Amino acid sequence: MTARVLDGTKIRDEIFAELRTETTRLAGEGIRPGLAAVLVGENPASQLYVKSKIAACEQLGLASWMRTPPASITTDEMLLLIRDLNNDDAVDGILIQLPLPKHVDTKRVLEAVDPAKDVDGFHPVSLGRLVSGRPGLVACTPAGCMEILRRNNIVIEGANAVVLGRSDIVGKPMALLLMHANATVTICHSKTRDLPNVVRRADIVVAAMGKPGYVQADWIRQGATVIDVGTNKVTDPHEAESLLHNFPARLQKFREKGAVLIGDVHPDAVNTAGALTPVPGGVGPMTITMLMSNTVKAARLRRGKSRTDTVQSTASAR
Ligand code: NAP
Repeated sequence: MTARVLDGTKIRDEIFAELRTETTRLAGEGIRPGLAAVLVGENPASQLYVKSKIAACEQLGLASWMRTPPASITTDEMLLLIRDLNNDDAVDGILIQLPLPKHVDTKRVLEAVDPAKDVDGFHPVSLGRLVSGRPGLVACTPAGCMEILRRNNIVIEGANAVVLGRSDIVGKPMALLLMHANATVTICHSKTRDLPNVVRRADIVVAAMGKPGYVQADWIRQGATVIDVGTNKVTDPHEAESLLHNFPARLQKFREKGAVLIGDVHPDAVNTAGALTPVPGGVGPMTITMLMSNTVKAARLRRGKSRTDTVQSTASAR
């Protein structure tokens, strides 16, 4: 059996089309949703991520601004910058690109963001709203995983869902979203006993551990759905050989490039799962998509507008 591929780029395109309809409607009311990105220092990976986020805003006709303070910025200076953005009515969403330099107090900075503009869903108020099932802005990656499940008609209600990882940005909100969608949820972490057998009971597995190919194909129940959040760059030839020995074309690409992106689930799981997100091209494209969705949603909520579009997004529907 070969798993059905749950294509994140296709869902991104669908949601972008829906967001365009909504931004056109908002434009008719004189509203242009806007995202401010704060990029501290010159970390090349962060620069690339922020560039993609700004490009997505441009693609959708959202306003965007970049603030690029130097790596020497202090926590107090960051707090002032955020206060400015909180007070700027044109700004609907504030994105602080992580990681921040070590001397900056990341928690204080994230907590300074106005919860109404917390498009990353990292603020304790946003997390609290999620816990209590109240409307709010939900962290983008888990919200994107829910979109993948829903738009592929994967049955969540009553399913046994196993979430591997308990981080504040992926594992915990993911587990809460699945629970609110009436799955029976088990959350696993590095101290979980007998992980293979816990995973074997799952109808839905969400892997967010940051360990390339860790979840073995024979841990996945025949026909289960696998959402692979892991995005791990593998550069070691032995590791690549052992992960990709059944995928000669990918192995050949690795040999040419010297690197390959591997999820947390072993690629061989494509032969046991019923449906699975590819890496790359599965969960990856959904994170920016949901950031855009959250920015439009924040614009709507801040101005007391109701939703008339067709986006059934977990984040938007809340
Ligand atoms: P994280 O903060 O490092 O959390 C990893 C979690 O995995 C922790 O809860 C940890 O348990 C658990 N874990 C580690 N080793 C384990 C093991 N052997 N068995 C069971 N659990 C184990 O990572 P994160 O930020 O949530 O990200 C997870 C992965 O998702 C990374 O690969 C990251 O790159 C990827 N990611 C992708 C996207 C995307 O857009 N596609 C977005 C965000 C993250 P403890 O709590 O016990 O340490």
